[in-house]
Amino acid sequence: MRRKLAAGNWKMNGDRAALAEIEQVAKAPSAAGVEVLICPPATLLAEAAARAAGTTVTIGGQDCHPAAAGAHTGDISAPMLADAGARAVILGHSERRADHGETSKLVRHKAEAAQAAGLVAIICVGETEAQRDDGTALDVVARQLAESLPDSAGAENTVLAYEPVWAIGTGRVPDTAQIAEMHSHLRARLAARLGTNVAQGIRILYGGSVKPGNATEIFATPNVDGALVGGASLKAGDFIPIIDALAAAG
Ligand code: PEP
Repeated sequence: MRRKLAAGNWKMNGDRAALAEIEQVAKAPSAAGVEVLICPPATLLAEAAARAAGTTVTIGGQDCHPAAAGAHTGDISAPMLADAGARAVILGHSERRADHGETSKLVRHKAEAAQAAGLVAIICVGETEAQRDDGTALDVVARQLAESLPDSAGAENTVLAYEPVWAIGTGRVPDTAQIAEMHSHLRARLAARLGTNVAQGIRILYGGSVKPGNATEIFATPNVDGALVGGASLKAGDFIPIIDALAAAG
């Protein structure tokens, strides 16, 4: 049985005053029924983890360097994230792939580093609009998965997030048949690589314009084990109804 996961990605948003949103989310009764992860910017990690301590909400990072330490100005390692109180880290988000030229090979090295530090690697994959339109989405995403996923991937240390680039921050969402097709494709690729038992345990999140108004329909889709939520995770008033919908999805 895969435990449902609602993960919030604050991206480059939030100051210390925003930490109150985490406390609000932690008080929601539905947050105890599913797994809730909030990934604030690195500047807020340690304090976010302190505020979430003793609640069911956990805290994660948004990126890490593949090395554990060294001369990499401006970067943060996986052991540093763990030391700050993170339990997970988002890797290979399309914004990092686009803004920082991150390749799937680099994402794989980062995921290996995250797992070695005891963090859950949330590996993001997703096609562009042009790739969706030209019919190559399934192949593109399968290749990203093959190249980004470490051989050490398992249910305890890996979560996948399918995030069509064209749905992120746009208010546009694939129809549920498209989400179901991609998630079942990802599950099959995981099984081919890691075996059926391991593949059945790995959670696959949907991400891209998840909102209170569409969450119930998305969470009813086969093989959707939760969501990676950007904009709607910034305010407890938006994120809690999404968590409610996930808890109600059973
Ligand atoms: C994201 O960037 O991971 C994301 C899903 O963003 P949004 O929910 O704002 O589309």
